[in-house]
Amino acid sequence: MLDLILTSDSYKNFCKLIEFDKLSHAYLITSPDEDYNREFCKLIALRLNCKEVCKTCESCVKILNDIHPDVLSFPKNKSFVVDDAKSIIEELNVMPMLSNIKIFIINNFNKSTVQAQNKLLKSIEEPPKNVIFLINATSLESILPTIQSRTQKFELLPLNTNVLKEYFNNNGENINENALIEGEGWPGKTIKYNQNQSFIKNCEFIENLLKEMKSSKDVLNFSSIFSQKDGFEERLNLLENAFDKILNNIASGEESAFTKEAVAMIFEKINLAKKEFLANCNLNLISDTLLLGILEVKYICK
Ligand SMILES: [Zn+2]
Repeated sequence: MLDLILTSDSYKNFCKLIEFDKLSHAYLITSPDEDYNREFCKLIALRLNCKEVCKTCESCVKILNDIHPDVLSFPKNKSFVVDDAKSIIEELNVMPMLSNIKIFIINNFNKSTVQAQNKLLKSIEEPPKNVIFLINATSLESILPTIQSRTQKFELLPLNTNVLKEYFNNNGENINENALIEGEGWPGKTIKYNQNQSFIKNCEFIENLLKEMKSSKDVLNFSSIFSQKDGFEERLNLLENAFDKILNNIASGEESAFTKEAVAMIFEKINLAKKEFLANCNLNLISDTLLLGILEVKYICK
């Protein structure tokens, strides 16, 4: 993922701060994608130690393998706790060994305890010279205002999905179109969707449904799977994505089994199904009505 982030606007913007010597001593880096956050911070650590991010020099190799003595990552366990804050306080007074900067990366800081955040407060307020904190979080919600006011906020931007697609293609990885859509430009999320077997199975199911559902008897067969509680909302979203795509195809003049009017009506039906789902209505009933409705408008709007 590092190569992908190298081309991102967020990375380029952060590099400008480095180049113009405008770095602050503590950053709170946010995006809804925890893998992206973590990799971004790692990339910044690489960049601060090796301008070319060559990935082959001693510093790069050590950082990539998480064994660089001056680049320390936290939490040591699942979430950032008081003990982590204590080790940071101890480490703060140890001079960097290999480089001229000491970097503390704290991942998933939004999962830390209030006590741990309070314990860290003083360290990020007045760190020794040549120390930088790269703290990342998927949301600011559970982060103390006192921490927020003592750090520089840096929001990561999602990547262009075409760039993501090209990257995966070039790396010989097959990326599911729906994983790209649902990932919304967040690389870590996209990869997670792409590796999620039940998600991929649902994608195939929706694809089949659109191809094979031709009679009310088919509807009942498909509905028996569609209505299962597990992944119900996901199937609704995937169905919506599929019709988005159909609409785009129609707009670009491609032939389709659905007319534009039919798709508009289907969107209404999907929205209604979503509302009914949230209102805890019977899932069998929602699916039967929705799938029959799709079949109906398909033939009415011919
Ligand atoms: Zn290097």
